[in-house]
Amino acid sequence: MRILIVEDEVRLAATLAELLHRQGYTTDICHDGLSGLDNAMGGIYDLIMLDGMLPKLDGFSLLRQLRGSGNTTPVLMLTARSEVSDRVEGLDSGADYYLTKPFEVPELLACVRLLLRRSGEARNDDAIICGDLRLEQGTFLLHCGDRSVRLSRREYDLMELLMRNYKLIVTKEQILLKVWGYDAEVEDNNAEVYISFLRRKLTHLHSTVKIRTIRMVGYCLEVAE
Ligand code: CA
Repeated sequence: MRILIVEDEVRLAATLAELLHRQGYTTDICHDGLSGLDNAMGGIYDLIMLDGMLPKLDGFSLLRQLRGSGNTTPVLMLTARSEVSDRVEGLDSGADYYLTKPFEVPELLACVRLLLRRSGEARNDDAIICGDLRLEQGTFLLHCGDRSVRLSRREYDLMELLMRNYKLIVTKEQILLKVWGYDAEVEDNNAEVYISFLRRKLTHLHSTVKIRTIRMVGYCLEVAE
């Protein structure tokens, strides 16, 4: 289980990481909102611990952007601000749970277990298999061996399209239509951008499946020799 900690108080971030390590979790730390968003968008985390007040980009805006991109990683907000309106803003922004600092360690760890368990239960076995890849419909998790990454909604739709058309060429027009639909304001390079996100994830997974670019036409999934 990999947890991202986005917290600008350096000592608190280190304490959280230490606590989580002792429970057997792997952690990464970001000390500002922009690098936090960047890391979170990678979709490799099982849980994100997010502070509200952060330099460069506050936690609420980070969360709205993350959810806006289709990312569904569970988020536990930890913030010093204790007014009800902030809590509402946190939950409205897409937080799964909200803890006010200072928090009790047992409560924090219970929240972590709760959120991880909840996302585990959301899994179902409807999966698409292709080469060494297994794409889970219920959770947007893409597995390869014992590694897995969580895809955003659009990444999932794109990956599903490619996997269902394994070895066939999927054109850019098909991608824009199936993934973004008719109405969306869609840029021509959206497909390329999301293909690059997926390629990064396939590399992270050490998959033998590659996305080949067919120049001027589209893309095609194939298993590398
Ligand atoms: Ca802070």
